[in-house]
Amino acid sequence: MLDAVVVGAGPAGLSAALSLGRMRRRCLLADPPVEAGRTPAGRRMHGYPTRDGVLVEDFRSLALGELSGYPGIEVRGSGVGAVAPLDDGFQVTLADRSTVRSRRLLLATGLLDRLPPLVGVEAVWGRGVFSCPYCHAWELRGLPLAVLGGAVGSVRLAVHLRRFSDDVVLLTEGSTDASEEAEDLLSRFRIRVDPAEVTRVAPAPGGGVEVRLRGACPLLLGGLFVPQWSVQGSALPEALGCAISAQGRVRVNQFGHTSVAGVYAAGDMAKMAGAEHVARSVAGAVAAGAQAGFGIDQDLLLTEAAPAAPATAVRAEGAR
Ligand SMILES: Cc1cc2nc3c(=O)[nH]c(=O)nc-3n(C[C@H](O)[C@H](O)[C@H](O)COP(=O)(O)OP(=O)(O)OC[C@H]3O[C@@H](n4cnc5c(N)ncnc54)[C@H](O)[C@@H]3O)c2cc1C
Repeated sequence: MLDAVVVGAGPAGLSAALSLGRMRRRCLLADPPVEAGRTPAGRRMHGYPTRDGVLVEDFRSLALGELSGYPGIEVRGSGVGAVAPLDDGFQVTLADRSTVRSRRLLLATGLLDRLPPLVGVEAVWGRGVFSCPYCHAWELRGLPLAVLGGAVGSVRLAVHLRRFSDDVVLLTEGSTDASEEAEDLLSRFRIRVDPAEVTRVAPAPGGGVEVRLRGACPLLLGGLFVPQWSVQGSALPEALGCAISAQGRVRVNQFGHTSVAGVYAAGDMAKMAGAEHVARSVAGAVAAGAQAGFGIDQDLLLTEAAPAAPATAVRAEGAR
């Protein structure tokens, strides 16, 4: 019987596996061979100390290299398909049809992004089309930028970007927010408004993004910022019965414990009550993964020291 199965080898799962490996725990870290997480290969991650601007795949190889020094950690290039509760843990079935039994389960399966329905957007997502200025604005400083949408949230994002560029245009596609706040911000921060419909986005020759507009000349931009929302990256939290917040995040306590005994969650997919709107980042996912690793280790220690004690001493609010 393993101590834990860590599902997902993004920043949260890699960090949790490292914590558990260092505690001499026996764990399986499982992730499908084709990375389906929020930071697919070929894109750079910014803002993580010592690795600012690292390629996603290099971050992952470095972390896997470190894990290879801990004999208790096995990494398997296979997704987790199903989990069945047992009296003393879980039976985990992987996509390669192998099964393992484990005392604890850590979900670190991330989120999947949903993008506005622009033709060509998937190919430039994370390259010329972005949503987070904290992750990407610095690299685009001095370049022409655009924000898609006419709502006041888009206007505020355009204001945010004015610190990085004198040339920021709001692409409203005809739906302008007529509120006093929006009009005031647009004029004070000298943000141009273009109401033309966006018909396609594509990689621009030499970098950035080309935005085609109906009835107008295409725009060559350093970056287009778009509204984006996210859904759970796997069906496992719901299948296991984990409590999920109104914002679609798995509810956890400070140790990553969900509402289901023995099931932990960390990274983008999980949030403590009241922290749902905290910005998602590699640093945040690494921190949450480490905490969940410590939480699982403590939980197991308590069980080992007092076998009759409840399996989980710490649970998320609303735990059964
Ligand atoms: C375009 C873009 C750019 C970004 N740039 C930055 C940046 O520059 N700096 C920054 O700090 N943050 C950035 N972020 C945010 C950052 O990528 C996330 O906060 C971070 O990746 C979250 O880590 P995670 O481990 O929670 O999830 P993820 O990185 O999404 O990893 C989840 C993992 O779970 C795996 N998985 C899913 N289902 C299963 C299953 N059933 N079985 C096994 N494995 C499974 C996936 O394959 C994936 O590897 C960016 C996000 C996007 C979308």
